[in-house]
Parts: sequence; structure tokens; C-alpha cells
Amino acid sequence: MYDMRAPGKGASQASAGVLCPYIEATSGSPLLALGARSLSMWDDWVAAVLARSSRSFHYARTGTLEVAFGDAGGSHLQQSAAWLAAEGVAHEWLDRAALKDFEPQASALATSGLYIAGHAHVDVPALVAALMSAARQHGATCETPTEIIHIEQKSDVVHVRVGDPASSRPLEVDHVVIAAGSWSRRVRVAGAPVFPVRPVRGQLLHLAWTDAALPRRSVWGPRCYTVPWPDGTVLVGATVEDVGFDERSTVDGVRGLMDAVSELLPAAARASLRSVRVGLRPATADQLPLLGPLKDHPRITLAAGHYRNGILLAPYTADVVTRMILDKERDPLLALTRPDRTSLSNIPPG
Ligand SMILES: Cc1cc2nc3c(=O)[nH]c(=O)nc-3n(C[C@H](O)[C@H](O)[C@H](O)COP(=O)(O)OP(=O)(O)OC[C@H]3O[C@@H](n4cnc5c(N)ncnc54)[C@H](O)[C@@H]3O)c2cc1C
Repeated sequence: MYDMRAPGKGASQASAGVLCPYIEATSGSPLLALGARSLSMWDDWVAAVLARSSRSFHYARTGTLEVAFGDAGGSHLQQSAAWLAAEGVAHEWLDRAALKDFEPQASALATSGLYIAGHAHVDVPALVAALMSAARQHGATCETPTEIIHIEQKSDVVHVRVGDPASSRPLEVDHVVIAAGSWSRRVRVAGAPVFPVRPVRGQLLHLAWTDAALPRRSVWGPRCYTVPWPDGTVLVGATVEDVGFDERSTVDGVRGLMDAVSELLPAAARASLRSVRVGLRPATADQLPLLGPLKDHPRITLAAGHYRNGILLAPYTADVVTRMILDKERDPLLALTRPDRTSLSNIPPG
């Protein structure tokens, strides 16, 4: 494994780690099919990683609570409840009085809520550390900081150039998986088009809660979402900004999140700001990842473009990529994520 920074230091270090396909995806969408499948894999995947790793991490299936303010927000939640019922997904509708009991930290101005018990959240930096420990214990090696600059398949061998152009060295391998997030478009593969992935900045606050009780679960409002942690801190996400490869935090971004979280959970106004995390979500035109072998380059696999749901989709991605390469099995859902699908418009090199 090669990483130009270190494992998990791209978008993943900024991620809130919420696993919530029934909020992120719409009814009947391809993203829902992928997200629901991956969510169903999480409990077993966590057990498998913990069994193989010397590192542990926090993972909680405590659900999500989405709250609405006013009639329009309430009818949006009612529509969501209706399609969840049609899909057979367990959920609970809460009127104003029930919401106050269920989540005392939610704003008194919130008019209704929708609880989805099957959603979960995970501590992403700790998960990455556990995955790396498990991989190393099973023989993987990792060179960092090392940049991949060029890849070419010639008959059954893949030639890879690593390092900066002045001192780059060639490698010959059987198979390459490109999982370079937003930077995937910068990895050049001989004879393949530029990968249509672009960065979308997200800023996220890490707050230390003070005098009030922590919210009991991940709470979602119209302008932000929150994730409580056992150490008494809360993550607040996230901005969505089209600013290229700019990974700075901004006053505007932080102020917007602070206002939004104070509206959702009033006790947040008394919390202290521990840090601001920033990451570049790898986005595609149809908001689905690019997963699968490259056309005419079967020994080069792309696993990128997971946009807002790369953590949710991690078990599914790991499973289909390994089964594809090691067992030559094609999961039927891969038809949705082919890197050469026509729903993607190509983008110029960046
Ligand atoms: C603020 C924020 C909140 C989020 N919240 C959630 C959430 O709650 N739930 C969820 O599921 N998802 C969430 N996401 C999205 C999720 O974080 C991403 O989809 C996911 O992290 C993408 O993972 P990745 O490994 O593909 O990319 P990255 O994590 O960006 O990793 C790419 C890696 O590739 C390396 N690299 C790039 N180019 C090269 C090269 N040429 N050579 C060698 N190495 C290279 C980089 O150094 C980096 O380590 C969030 C994202 C942000 C920014």
C-alpha cells in the first residue's frame, strides 16, 4: 500500500462516521441499494476487524433522530416515515411531546422527530488505525508518504511509478486498486480517461460539551447533524463547499455550523470548540462511487468517488473489491458503479 500522506489522512480523518442510508439516500435510489446493503454488513465487519486487530474503536448502533421545525419540515419527515414503512425499515414517529421525552437536548422549538434505530456511527480515525493494524498483522506493508504518479497495464503485468518524477522508481505488480479519493483524477493510467471525481470540501466542528447532558444519539436538523461521543464531546457536521483542493477551515464555515447547532441543540451554545476538521469529499456527477475494473485494463480496479458516504460504504467496497480480484466474482450491484457508466460526464484534467 502506498499513500502520499498516511492512511486515513484524506477525507476520512474529517468524517463524522455516521452510517445512515435512510437519511442520505432517497427512496428507490441506487445509493439506497448500496447503502442499505453496506449498513447490513457493518456489525459483522466490526467483529471481524476487532478479531484481527490489536486496536479497538468505538462503534454504536444507537440510531439517528431527525427533527423538524414547522409544518414544511414535519411533512418532509412524514413522507420519509411513509417510505420507510413501505420499505419495511423500523422507525418511530415522534410528535412534539414525545420528542421532548425522547431527546431532552433537542430544541423546544422542534415540532416533530423521526427515529431510525438501525443507523449507527463509528470513530473513523480509530477504525482506520484498527484496519491498518489488522492489515499489517496479516502481512500488508505500507509506504508513506509515497505518491503513485503513473500506472500502466501491459499484458498481465501492471507497471506502477511511485515517488516524485525526479526520483521515481518502477514497480511491477499483478493488480492495482486505486483508492485515492478526491485525488483520483490526478492518478494517470496509460490509455484510460481522467477519472471523473472532484473535491467537495466539508468542515466539521469538534465540541466539548459542558454543563448539559450529552444528546443520546446522532441528531439531525435542517442545517446540521451531531454525533455524541463517550468522552463527552460532540461532532457537528458539515459544510458542503465547491472550492477545489482547498483544505482550509473558514470563519464562514465555522460560524454557520455554530449557528445551526445552537438552533438544533441549544446547550451547544455553552460548549467549547475543541477543533475544526476539514476534508475533501470525493464527488461524482451522479453521487455514486466508481467501483470496478477499468475498461480494457482488467488488472486495474478503481474504488473512489464515495462522496458523502465513504465510511458507510466501506464494508461493501472492501468485500466486492476483494471478491472481484481474488475470486473473480462480480456482485450484481457493481452494475450501478461501473467506472465507465454513461451517467458520468467526463471532466477536464485538474
Ligand atoms: C466533513 C465530512 C464529514 C463526513 N461524514 C461522513 C459520514 O458521516 N459518513 C460517511 O459514510 N461518510 C462521511 N464523509 C465522507 C467520507 O469521509 C469519504 O467518502 C471517505 O472518507 C472517502 O474515503 P477514501 O478513502 O475514498 O478517500 P480519502 O479518505 O480522501 O483517502 C484518499 C487517500 O488517498 C491518498 N492518495 C491520493 N492520491 C494519491 C496518490 N497519487 N498516491 C498515493 N496516495 C494517494 C491520500 O493521501 C489519502 O490518504 C464525510 C466527509 C467529510 C469531509
